[in-house]
Amino acid sequence: MRHSPQHYSKPAKKLNAVAEIQIHDKVFVSFISKEKINARLAELAAQINADYAGKNPIVIGILNGSFIFAADIFRLLTIEAEISFIKLASYKGTSSTGNVVTAIGLEETLKGRHVIIVEDIIDTGKTLHSFLPELHNRQAASVKIATFLSKPEALKYEVKADYCAFEIENKFVVGYGLDYDGLGRNIPELYVLK
Ligand code: 5GP
Ligand code: MG
Repeated sequence: MRHSPQHYSKPAKKLNAVAEIQIHDKVFVSFISKEKINARLAELAAQINADYAGKNPIVIGILNGSFIFAADIFRLLTIEAEISFIKLASYKGTSSTGNVVTAIGLEETLKGRHVIIVEDIIDTGKTLHSFLPELHNRQAASVKIATFLSKPEALKYEVKADYCAFEIENKFVVGYGLDYDGLGRNIPELYVLK
């Protein structure tokens, strides 16, 4: 059988206690707990709240992977702020395809706005590297990057995260919005390839 869905069908509470899960053909082990994620997000949100007070930033989440992180961090903002989403890249398998495609356009006017790009993970940096010039063309007042994860060893393009929840080693991870061939995004915490 291709799928091994029994770990999903359990309630979230039990899922948190599972040390190993299988998705498609691969086994993943527990990596960063929901407690650690929550604690780190509170720290990042406090920074963003302090940095953007009175600036009404527009948070732009990069779909699909960032939707959980974007929702969680946005909920922790106590300042005036807007949110929007854009789809840029499709990513298949366990290595970066390098193909960046704009699938959903950005409707908001960014001229003079303070933009916070929200990504799930900066791997090679190619995705953001190819999107940032577009933001500058739109004359944003400022552009900062918030990413849930970054893999410093994998970085090939010059991209610097202003807010990064966790720097991780160069291993494939799933959960908390990140998928392996479509599955795993709904796992509440982060798992790493065994
Ligand atoms: P980059 O353009 O920085 O090389 O890659 C960014 C995209 O690759 C991320 O938005 C994500 O979709 C995908 N990606 C990179 N590393 C991982 C990983 O370890 N796990 C998952 N699920 N996706 C990854
Ligand atoms: Mg992505």
